Amino acid sequence: MSKIHNFGAGPAKLPEEVYDILKNEFTNFDGTGISLLETSHRSPTYFKLNKDVQDVVRRLLNVPDNYKILFLSGGGQGQFAAVPLNLISRTGTADYVVTGTWSAKAAKEAKKYGKVNLVLPATDRYVDIPDQSTWNLDPNASYVHICTNETIHGIEFDFIPDTKGVPLVADMSSNFMSKKVDVSKFGVIYGGAQKNIGTAGIALVIVREDLLNQALPICPSILDWTANSKADSILNTPPMFAIQVMGRVLQWIERLGGLDRMAELANKKSSLIYDIIEQSNGFYYAPVAKNVRSKMNIPFRIGKADEALEKEFLKGAEALNLIQLKGHRDVGGIRASTYNAVTVEEVETLAKYMKEFYKKHAK
Ligand code: PMP
Repeated sequence: MSKIHNFGAGPAKLPEEVYDILKNEFTNFDGTGISLLETSHRSPTYFKLNKDVQDVVRRLLNVPDNYKILFLSGGGQGQFAAVPLNLISRTGTADYVVTGTWSAKAAKEAKKYGKVNLVLPATDRYVDIPDQSTWNLDPNASYVHICTNETIHGIEFDFIPDTKGVPLVADMSSNFMSKKVDVSKFGVIYGGAQKNIGTAGIALVIVREDLLNQALPICPSILDWTANSKADSILNTPPMFAIQVMGRVLQWIERLGGLDRMAELANKKSSLIYDIIEQSNGFYYAPVAKNVRSKMNIPFRIGKADEALEKEFLKGAEALNLIQLKGHRDVGGIRASTYNAVTVEEVETLAKYMKEFYKKHAK
């Protein structure tokens, strides 16, 4: 089969090298002669993997000693519930900065467990992050929640908000490990793995120790960061294969040169696409304000939202094995996701196709 170029938003492409490693160790994990799929989660083999994956997370992000690293079932949305369940008890209220569909969903989930203050005026057209001087932050909030990269709208924070001492909680599901982040500026960082760091079903959670021990009494143990931290993420049977995949992806990132290298590549790849959009005299149109355009997910429209032309674009792309480029149904159009595993060469192939399509159809 000829090579497929997968620009899907998630579950997204994994590095070919990681698949080779996984294939090799699938039925013989770490020299045990059996698969990790049939290995006890209370075995030295799994204890070692559990530690190795935590260690690579700590190295890549330079995670300070006073932060715990947790692997939790339930993906990103599991943590939409876990965040208020673990943190809202201090004052009963939380701030949510809603910049797109995912932070809106997180806010909606939090309302089940306490009061939610929406920091920004409500909108259904997400194209910007309003200046922080206009934010309606509540000094009494238990925490401030942001989504650092809105996967559907393609909006990425280009700054870390100053929350005046209120713990900052960040959903990094779709830009985790795409660049260096100063972890000490956050109370909690979390994300589902199926975009940049692995496969679905698992969330990576990095939590500052002083934020433990305040879960609501109704918090299910499985979502309780304190209980899971005490159990070193082996409270129940963890999704071990998903953790194996995450570990292999993170080790691959480290081999390639770590997060500075990922950031360099993300800049290069996203610029290739945004430059074509900018140089197309409005034929391609990216709705998001330039300073917050995502380097991971690039949504754009064609010919002033000409759906027939967009359909043709997608058909032509598929014929070239450029797949999963259809925009999310909430925003329509096209979306190219350029996560870590997508290579510069693949993005160049897409860029070339975009140029040719433009030449053929621009009036
Ligand atoms: N947050 C963001 C930013 C996401 O993109 C997604 C998934 N697309 C989620 C949360 C939810 O993750 P999951 O599907 O793993 O629950």
